[in-house]
Amino acid sequence: MHDNSFIEINREAFESNWQFLKQHFGKKVLISSVVKGNAYGHGIKPFVTMALESGVTHFSVFDCNEARQVNEVVKNRAEIMIMGWIENTSIPWAIENNVSIYVFEKKRLEASIKSAKKLGKKVMLHIEIETGMNRTGFQPKEISSLIKYLKKEQDHFIFQGLCTHYAGAESIANYYRVRNQIAQYSKMYDRFCAEGLTPILRHTACSAAAMMYPETCMDMVRIGIMQYGLWPSPEAFVNYLNVSKKRIDPLRRVISWKSKVMSIRKVTQGQFIGYGNSYMASENMKIAVVPIGYAHGYSRTLSNQGRVLINGYRCQVIGTINMNMMLVDVSEILIIHIGDEVVLIGRQDNLDLSVASFSDFSNLLNYELLTRLSQEIPRIII
Ligand SMILES: *Cc1c(COP(=O)(O)O)cnc(C)c1O
Repeated sequence: MHDNSFIEINREAFESNWQFLKQHFGKKVLISSVVKGNAYGHGIKPFVTMALESGVTHFSVFDCNEARQVNEVVKNRAEIMIMGWIENTSIPWAIENNVSIYVFEKKRLEASIKSAKKLGKKVMLHIEIETGMNRTGFQPKEISSLIKYLKKEQDHFIFQGLCTHYAGAESIANYYRVRNQIAQYSKMYDRFCAEGLTPILRHTACSAAAMMYPETCMDMVRIGIMQYGLWPSPEAFVNYLNVSKKRIDPLRRVISWKSKVMSIRKVTQGQFIGYGNSYMASENMKIAVVPIGYAHGYSRTLSNQGRVLINGYRCQVIGTINMNMMLVDVSEILIIHIGDEVVLIGRQDNLDLSVASFSDFSNLLNYELLTRLSQEIPRIII
């Protein structure tokens, strides 16, 4: 763990987001908290600990490694679902720990059934079907043989879910593609049911689909970005404002990221600042050094672009972002000392630096910025 910055996780903000989501989706829809990518940078262990205490009962991860980390915290007090990667050798672990897994290919399905037979315990499966994203999922032409196989092996698995994923529900440009996926899913669902294979949960929606296409909510929604208080896209936010009566953002950012001033110096007019010559002092300037760089997840694309908050001022990053340091212009701050707080994401006095603002300065998505935050930064729940 390094001590040049820390991340605060705001419990109240999370609880208020979760409350909003529960109210919005209604009692009949189970919400799975998606904590892949180190809980979108919030830190999988502290985040899951907090979410569990706040009443979350279902977590979704990408791979088995993340599932193990979640399992260490929840210990059977919540369900865990692996949506992506698991080695066949880890399937017995999943079965023994009641972790459910996606299957999207015959090979993994067969390995799962084989492990279940060996352990004498049913494997909990989510059958993922291809509906138009063309990533993972059983293809339409595989479905008859899949159904035949599942009927034969019915005693060895629990049909936990029938699922799919939409190819960009956050953007209205994908409207027809998503609509076709919804129709395709519905057709497939009927086909499974007609064969006596009824899944416990129908689940297809991420945050954007759940908000923009309410019919995709079904029995469970898989919510990542919104529980952290961020919208999947500006369109999803605008869409919500248009359909809701209250014209305010119901979400609150959970994360803040803070560091300190490490050093301060004066630079005279005409000097280049930092590596190379991407920034030249146009007048006499005062510069603060902040011990944060791309090694900690502050992207190099924010060179000469980023903003930080110091002593109630919004200050500009100047020059290139280094591996472990950045330089900021503090010329207008009269009183500044080594050790003063630097806010990289979050509030200071009445100024705010949002996660979304990073995508205005660079091509970073909310998602990408957050998941790049180094695992070495301590996370503190407040
Ligand atoms: C990441 C992910 C989600 C959650 O997406 P958000 O946009 O963060 O809500 C849902 N489903 C799958 C399959 C995912 O990989």
